[in-house]
Amino acid sequence: MNRFETNLRIPGPTSLPSPVREAGARQMINHRGPEFAAMLDRVTSGLKTFFGTGNDIVILSCAGTGGLEAAIVNTLSPGDNVLGVSIGAFGDRFAKIAEVYGANVTKLDVEWGRACEPDQLRAALQNAPAGGWRAVTITHNETSTGIMNPIRELATVIRHEAPEALILVDAVSGLGAVPFEQDDWGLDVVVSGSQKSWMAAPGMAFVSASDRAWNAMAHAKMPRFYLDLRKHRESAAAGQTPWTPAVAVMFQLDVALGLMAQEGREQVFARHAACAAATRAGLAALGFELYADQRHASQTVTAARVPDGLDWKAFNADIKRRKVVLAGGQGKLSGQVFRVGHLGTVTLDEILSCMGVIEEASLLHGRAITPGAGVAAAQRAGLEALGLVERAAAGGRA
Ligand SMILES: *Cc1c(COP(=O)(O)O)cnc(C)c1O
Repeated sequence: MNRFETNLRIPGPTSLPSPVREAGARQMINHRGPEFAAMLDRVTSGLKTFFGTGNDIVILSCAGTGGLEAAIVNTLSPGDNVLGVSIGAFGDRFAKIAEVYGANVTKLDVEWGRACEPDQLRAALQNAPAGGWRAVTITHNETSTGIMNPIRELATVIRHEAPEALILVDAVSGLGAVPFEQDDWGLDVVVSGSQKSWMAAPGMAFVSASDRAWNAMAHAKMPRFYLDLRKHRESAAAGQTPWTPAVAVMFQLDVALGLMAQEGREQVFARHAACAAATRAGLAALGFELYADQRHASQTVTAARVPDGLDWKAFNADIKRRKVVLAGGQGKLSGQVFRVGHLGTVTLDEILSCMGVIEEASLLHGRAITPGAGVAAAQRAGLEALGLVERAAAGGRA
């Protein structure tokens, strides 16, 4: 970063590494030729590593929401009983899509700022409508509140209480940043999007469907054409997509996944964990109350309450003037929280510089903070999360 560049701290789109940006400027190629086929193959296998799956992953040219819609319309029929587990704005959206297409949706609305607890989910599942549950929609990482659901535990509960139900997971803002094992956890459809942890521009959604989900597609009656996953799978077998794909985004993804592979899965996860720990510690040290239940704090986005008496709009304008872009509250949290995104190409340095700017703006707005407190706390938490503090104390070297 230099002083003309923005420290884009929103939970997607995330900023692009230079090689990824350059890839987006490449000349077009024939999307029905061998070069594209090879790229589609590379990108798909790069994604599989992070999804933790042996499934065919379908790459759609659309926003993440298109991927969620694909999960619904390909597997369900009007009248199907769906439990829509929601812990925030994105959980609401997923359930809404099912409802719009005629599913019989029952909501499990969890208090915002909290994760869904296994007991809560069990009770909701046991209260099944006649005919039983056909599917459960659920969010992995709820971007509006900064909560990461314990998806593995929750999937175990669903498998036990409703063995026939398809588990449809919105993993748009978490996948690629944290350990995720679709196959081990028994998740039927998992969706992510190019502009979040994947360090590419918006425009592509990834949908990974289990054998159960592929089988369900043969009987599902919701209308679909553009998002018909069976058409995509057929084309993919020939190294193509059924419709013209977002080729420029695909160029970027190809490079971005290469960077992620070079860094290594575990290192990518460790970097996200360190940046998340740093953000939480820094904000707390500056007197901001973290919004989320910290037992389930997200590794990719942190939400903090706007303190009483702080003029958020003016405060945020001063932060923006210093080239740090934060996200405001979403939906009913508008004006009540602000959010810091720490996913994709994020580094500890960027979090520290973001904290520095928040400190400066805090002083400008008469908040009695100790200069350096946020930066120091963030640095300490980040380095501790990386295990460096402990290692040095033990006399060890990296
Ligand atoms: C970003 C996001 C989406 C998809 O958003 P689009 O704007 O449609 O790409 C879906 N779910 C979650 C949890 C997200 O963070």
